[in-house]
Amino acid sequence: MNIPFFDYSDLFARHRNELTDIFQSVSSCGAFIMQDDLVQFENKLAKYTGVNYALGVANATDAMQLLLKAGGIGIGDEVIFCSHTMVATASAIAFTGATPVPVEAGSDHLIDVEKIELAITPNTKAIMPTQLNGRVANMDEILRISDKYNLQVYEDSAQALGAKYKGQSAGSFGMGGCISFYPAKVLGCFGDGGAVLTNNKSIYNKIKLMRDHGRGEDGDVTIWGYNSRLDNLQAAILNYFFDNYEGIVQRRREIATLYFDSLSVLDKVVLPPAVNSDPDHFDIFQNYEIEAFMRDELKKYLADKGVGTLIQWGGKAVHEFRDLGFTQTLSFTEKIMRSSLMLPLNMTITDDEVEYICNCIADFYND
Ligand SMILES: *Cc1c(COP(=O)(O)O)cnc(C)c1O
Repeated sequence: MNIPFFDYSDLFARHRNELTDIFQSVSSCGAFIMQDDLVQFENKLAKYTGVNYALGVANATDAMQLLLKAGGIGIGDEVIFCSHTMVATASAIAFTGATPVPVEAGSDHLIDVEKIELAITPNTKAIMPTQLNGRVANMDEILRISDKYNLQVYEDSAQALGAKYKGQSAGSFGMGGCISFYPAKVLGCFGDGGAVLTNNKSIYNKIKLMRDHGRGEDGDVTIWGYNSRLDNLQAAILNYFFDNYEGIVQRRREIATLYFDSLSVLDKVVLPPAVNSDPDHFDIFQNYEIEAFMRDELKKYLADKGVGTLIQWGGKAVHEFRDLGFTQTLSFTEKIMRSSLMLPLNMTITDDEVEYICNCIADFYND
């Protein structure tokens, strides 16, 4: 068998006619920047996630940076984040002039809420959890701490469109959140794309200007901005896939259940929480990230069997990029990073392929 981790061209082949129609209709109108498809998509996105406002931007990294800027984060401030995340979380903080302060991940790979208070100093302004792998962190606890110390909350919800905690969507808890439409994300476009989600009217008004050079509808410029727009062709493609988003999420949860049911008998792997195992969480499984004994050997074994796997962020937590100035030691997170492996989970994989992958993993440990 040959099961790539992700197969973009297969995805295109399955939707070739519809996507070709979209390209023709958008191009023949010449509707490329700030057009109706974008407005429609933003409205659907806000409705789906239950926030007041959604704004398309160039990518999720920009979304976070714009959010932090609009919320007043800057030089001298510290922002706490979980080190098991993409470097983008920290770079968005750093690009505002603030200092990113990494803390440990817990056993579910999300921010360890028990470690947050230890990292708070008089300069701390905000907490920015990453809603990793399509699961929302313990937001009750994060909001309790932010209330106690008068901190803002932002979410790196790039991986978590439609994931919920106690019925509430990722990106809707604090000042705002981001969504990424990078091709491998659950809702991916054909290039780069992102969105800001917020309930805060002042943040919305600012970012609406900031993403387009600070220009208002009359062309007057009242705020420093830059160019971070979600183009209309990508928005049209996103509208198309978004119409079946519930089905996409349902399928991902099915695949996660197949993995869980087969692999939970093995004592050499640690699995993500099972679907519906905790009523507080509705997970969308952006990734199926397991911890595996002899991870590197397993990865190679699976590759020899035709199974593509991926090590998230290349196997390093953000604080391990010492050239960026980090000095922390976060031993639990480092341990997770050394053993984590992502198994194929995408819109095109079949049940038989998942079964084959699980059999290969069982063979690896039983031989
Ligand atoms: C994908 C991702 C990002 C970056 O998203 P872009 O749209 O590529 O900027 C940030 N944080 C996390 C957790 C991600 O998975």
